[in-house]
Amino acid sequence: RMKSAAAPIRDILKDLHTRLVANYEGKIADYIPELSAASPDSFGIALCTTDGQIVEYGDYKTSFTIQSVSKPFMFGLVIGDHGLDHVLSKVGVEPTGEAFNSIVLDEVSNRPFNPMVNSGAIATADLVKGKDYPERVKRMLEMFSRYSGREVFVDNTVFMSERMTGHRNRAMAHLMRNFDMMSEKFEEALELYFQQCSILVNAHDLSVMGATLANGGLNPLTKIRAIESENVKYLLSIMMSCGMYDYAGEWAFRVGIPAKSGVAGGIVAVVPGVLGIGLYSPLLDIKGNSVRGVKACQELSQKFSLHAFESS
Ligand code: GLU
Repeated sequence: RMKSAAAPIRDILKDLHTRLVANYEGKIADYIPELSAASPDSFGIALCTTDGQIVEYGDYKTSFTIQSVSKPFMFGLVIGDHGLDHVLSKVGVEPTGEAFNSIVLDEVSNRPFNPMVNSGAIATADLVKGKDYPERVKRMLEMFSRYSGREVFVDNTVFMSERMTGHRNRAMAHLMRNFDMMSEKFEEALELYFQQCSILVNAHDLSVMGATLANGGLNPLTKIRAIESENVKYLLSIMMSCGMYDYAGEWAFRVGIPAKSGVAGGIVAVVPGVLGIGLYSPLLDIKGNSVRGVKACQELSQKFSLHAFESS
């Protein structure tokens, strides 16, 4: 495991970056114009250890919207707000072979399958506490700020595009409302969901957010608690089983690190007790995961024996 000094690790990241940046496989998301404007050259890698050491290389300061990488963190927020039992009455924890945006609910319970698919994330957003909508947005932003160790902001143009094009997400919310799985404020929950997807981060931020989870919920840079330590395992296990779209099973098998990716090209990965990894590269494979990000994680996992079930 990573005990060596920072300089040799920076060389390893540099080598990884230099080789993978030459790979132009994949496609940038283009369902809204703001995402398609990303540069195919962008590639950033950041590592943050649980004792707050950071090693990073490439475009780790380039901003992008967090998108689905926000989902496990929101799941953690509502577990803190309501306790696990209530949250699990509204959203399951079962992986699905369906696409992330499929309009399918569990036939027995009417719950969305898990909080990493869009329907489950929208049901999760519905559970965020607050006396009114502004307070709910504020609580959400404060939560992400605690994880990243800096004040985060929403990209308003992306937010407007997401909410204007989000018909499929609206359809899911209506279906869940039909089954009484969402509150009468389901339209507000959709707005909150579009807001959470539009938060600007960079690979550096994602590494700190991952390191906070790796560190039992305590941000290693600010020493501020982002989540109760007993709830961290729920985020990590759902990331392990459902975090990488329809590649989640193969990812758990080959890479063995709880992770979540998003459509803008971000990935956060967590090695409990050791470090967080933040990655950004907008070229996506057919499953929707960053091509360079997946390859970088595979290599890092092998090189440092980071797989959760490693026997060494
Ligand atoms: N805003 C996107 C949606 O709701 C998020 C997609 C993603 O990152 O998976 O479709």
